Amino acid sequence: MKKHTIVLFALVFGTITSLLLIVQSFRPIDGLESITSTDRIAVWAITVILFIYYKSLNSKPQLVPSMISIEKENSRDKDKPGVSFKDVAGLDEIKEELQETIDFMINSEKYKRMGAKIPKGILFHGPPGTGKTLLAKAVAGETNSSFLYASGSEFVEKYVGVGAKRVRTLFEKAKKESPSIIFIDEIDAIGTKRNQDSNNEKDQTLNQLLVELDGFNTDETVIVIGATNRLDLLDEALLRPGRFDRHIYIGNPNMPAREKILEVHTKNKPLDGKIDIKAFAKKTTGLSGAQLANIANEAAIIAVRNNKKEISTLEFDAAIERVVAGLELKNPNVLLKEKKTVAIHEAGHALVSKILDTDTVQKISIIPRGQALGYVLKYPDEDRYLLTEKELENKIITLLAGRAAEQVIFKEITTGAKDDLSKATDIARAMVCSYGMSPLGTLALDELYIKYNYDTIRIEIKDITDRTYKKAIELIEDHIHILHKIADRLMEKETIDSEELDLIFKENKRPPKPNFAL
Ligand code: ATP
Repeated sequence: MKKHTIVLFALVFGTITSLLLIVQSFRPIDGLESITSTDRIAVWAITVILFIYYKSLNSKPQLVPSMISIEKENSRDKDKPGVSFKDVAGLDEIKEELQETIDFMINSEKYKRMGAKIPKGILFHGPPGTGKTLLAKAVAGETNSSFLYASGSEFVEKYVGVGAKRVRTLFEKAKKESPSIIFIDEIDAIGTKRNQDSNNEKDQTLNQLLVELDGFNTDETVIVIGATNRLDLLDEALLRPGRFDRHIYIGNPNMPAREKILEVHTKNKPLDGKIDIKAFAKKTTGLSGAQLANIANEAAIIAVRNNKKEISTLEFDAAIERVVAGLELKNPNVLLKEKKTVAIHEAGHALVSKILDTDTVQKISIIPRGQALGYVLKYPDEDRYLLTEKELENKIITLLAGRAAEQVIFKEITTGAKDDLSKATDIARAMVCSYGMSPLGTLALDELYIKYNYDTIRIEIKDITDRTYKKAIELIEDHIHILHKIADRLMEKETIDSEELDLIFKENKRPPKPNFAL
């Protein structure tokens, strides 16, 4: 960078001098009379050389070493994190599993004497924000090791060899600072399956990573932890014994874990004595640890905004809504006609959700948030790991109920169901392709089969969505009086909570239709 600036200054100076000398050759300038033709040619030649040199500085290869040197100076990755297992809420079985690795790092001699080979590579996989990085830092904290962080994408460069060089540098550093933990986040950025037409930059980087994993021996206490959201994409070679052979799945937290995570993140915050963390854990099914941490932080920010001394249930509920549904628009410019459509659409979702008992409806709103003009805030009563075919269908019916309500009331449909359609199709596709819940049979369809038989598969997916949409229309038509009541209340108040919804249902319950069939 410095060299670049100096050359640029010299070039500007040379250019100005050359221009003056050109002018001087036509019209004498005071003070430059003594300049000879040889001097002139020399100045011009130097300027041209400077120009060529400057151009070459700006073009690729020279930049590569400078990038590496930036990386060498980068101290972000050298760290002894002050994080321990105490900071990681829940994940008890995973912490237990990691205990052996920790023991090895602390008492490595014991294992070496026994001739035991200790796992070099551990792979954390699972959805984003579930605490993979936090856990890796905690392992470093528990063992008082250096924590060297790298993201897979940092190794992806267009200049061949740069990624591989970075991998080498990282491992060199780790060995120097042993005991140490190398954490490679988003390892799929470099670790995806290699192509047949090999030898590109990415393959070289992956090869270097494999070499490094094989290369370091038991004298160095270095553990490599990789993290990915997509284990299925990784190259077999990376997962082989002796490399990343321990795979640990870290999923979204269940109810007790959510409670513990919320406790960890509210530990240093002033809470209203009446606050019930368990109730918030119940309302946040499906959210990741990162989202829960965000909710706790948002609640604190909202409390400051509301000039409160303590965080109360009100702020927590607002924070959950903020994180789940997005930012509330302060002055939305929604036409009255659109507002009515949104009220009917959301009333449709809430109505069917309550009839089919898919989830607990917490709130219905037609106040725009994020990209949505309205939303139904709902949560399942409990964490579920298995869903029946019927339950999946009910989920699709609920998703399609917004569009069905528009169809029944206005006899036309709008663009408002885009997101619902995409979610409903995803579930239907999984039912056909992954869960064997279609006439195609009890088999999981692999990608190749899906590719070559997509028309057949699409017919089955469409059959599910058509069937469920028909059911949604029937439910709306059968309970149209309640739909209108919910929509009218929404138009009047914009937001309805669960108690009010229960009341509407209670007040408008009709006796079941008489069954005349003999
Ligand atoms: P990604 O896959 O997107 O890289 P990740 O799984 O590495 O995500 P982290 O970066 O570890 O997720 O988590 C983000 C934040 O979420 C943490 O800094 C922490 O505040 C919070 N968090 C997540 N899980 C937990 C947990 N089990 N206990 C306490 N905090 C957690």
